[in-house]
Amino acid sequence: MRDTRVRNVLLPGDAGFGEAATPWAAGIRQPVIAVVEAADAAEVADLVRYAADAGLTISVQPSGHGASGDVAGVILLRTGLMDRVEVDPARRTARVEAGARWDRVLAEAARHGLTGPSGSSATVSVAGFMAGGGLSRFSRGHGWASDSVRALEVVGADGRAARVTAGTDPELFWALRGGGGDFAVITGIELDLLPIPHLHGGRILWPAARTGEVLRAFRQITATAPRELSLWVTRSRTTVAVEVTHLGRVDDARDLLAPLERLGGSLAGDPVPAALADAGVRTRRSPFRAELLTGLNDQVLDLLASAPPPLHLRHLAGALAEADPARGAGGTLAEPYLLVTGPVIPAGLGPHVSGRKPYTFLAPGESAAHAFPPPTLTRLRHIKDTRDPHRVLRANFPVHQ
Ligand SMILES: Cc1cc2nc3c(=O)[nH]c(=O)nc-3n(C[C@H](O)[C@H](O)[C@H](O)COP(=O)(O)OP(=O)(O)OC[C@H]3O[C@@H](n4cnc5c(N)ncnc54)[C@H](O)[C@@H]3O)c2cc1C
Repeated sequence: MRDTRVRNVLLPGDAGFGEAATPWAAGIRQPVIAVVEAADAAEVADLVRYAADAGLTISVQPSGHGASGDVAGVILLRTGLMDRVEVDPARRTARVEAGARWDRVLAEAARHGLTGPSGSSATVSVAGFMAGGGLSRFSRGHGWASDSVRALEVVGADGRAARVTAGTDPELFWALRGGGGDFAVITGIELDLLPIPHLHGGRILWPAARTGEVLRAFRQITATAPRELSLWVTRSRTTVAVEVTHLGRVDDARDLLAPLERLGGSLAGDPVPAALADAGVRTRRSPFRAELLTGLNDQVLDLLASAPPPLHLRHLAGALAEADPARGAGGTLAEPYLLVTGPVIPAGLGPHVSGRKPYTFLAPGESAAHAFPPPTLTRLRHIKDTRDPHRVLRANFPVHQ
């Protein structure tokens, strides 16, 4: 490994190797054979050619927020040094490198009155988020975050660099917008930013004992909410919080949120998008599990209200239910709600879950087959077979498992 031109290589036994091999989800063990920090796309290409010649496999892992544990014997590629972010306010676009995280992109965009389709964690990499499709705070209005990707700079499994768009390489572009990182290493992304003339939001908090009432108000609002409004409920041991994102005027939001306002509650935290930051520290918490819910009847609400925390419930629908499957591998997401819990899903929910999970919410032990309908999976596998026949690259959830 030391004979590649890549400068930052750590091997087992080197000082700092254990720390470098540990993912954000720090409870997950990663028995990798090397950790490589690439400085630029040329180093990525050198590493890919080296691995291809040596019959080795590379897993790209900017942060390990999505670590699955499926990395035994691979070279772990870190991209943190490639973190340039350039915003073009006139075109309302950004070009970001592979290691750039959402917090940097949002901060740069905000200086020009723009924002980007990030999710709940500001320390997730834009590349990892987009490769998996990405469910953002604006997905009800704007669909998958990856729909905002205009172009991808990639290094293929053959070590060749390319700029990929819907016009130059529609198959690869489709696969890398929602099908995961199994098909090429993304070194740069050009994405559309959103203008935010009116953006209103924040977090409303109640004691956890009020979870049942909050969930009922959540159901009432989301039954008819316009796609400009997104509500996420998060219950911890002590509190239940509703995070509000409204692409519109404060007065309109107030009318829409009346059922929640009637429950009192206190507004906490900064308005969106400044509130998009999380602590960014590694976690040792037990793995989560996600399910897509087909609806919220009284029985489901009672089960959720009495389930042990943590619990996170998102309203989806809107543009996601109308997403064009030709645009990206995430396709149409018909289920109106996403539930994220601890490792055990509350008993009794079975008839109300669809069985599908968004790719970015797959948990260790699950596979890409949980995320995609059979025709999509078949197409992704065919693309993998033609683009990476020797399996030089491995996503956290490979399409062939
Ligand atoms: C606290 C938390 C909150 C989250 N909130 C949301 C949310 O709101 N919405 C949502 O959709 N998801 C969410 N996620 C899931 C998260 O978006 C995914 O786990 C995502 O894949 C993380 O990307 P990463 O690069 O930071 O993580 P990593 O684990 O480092 O990478 C995940 C995978 O992305 C691929 N990848 C990363 N970089 C590249 C690259 N340069 N080229 C090719 N492939 C690449 C690889 O296959 C890699 O295995 C959340 C996760 C956590 C832990």
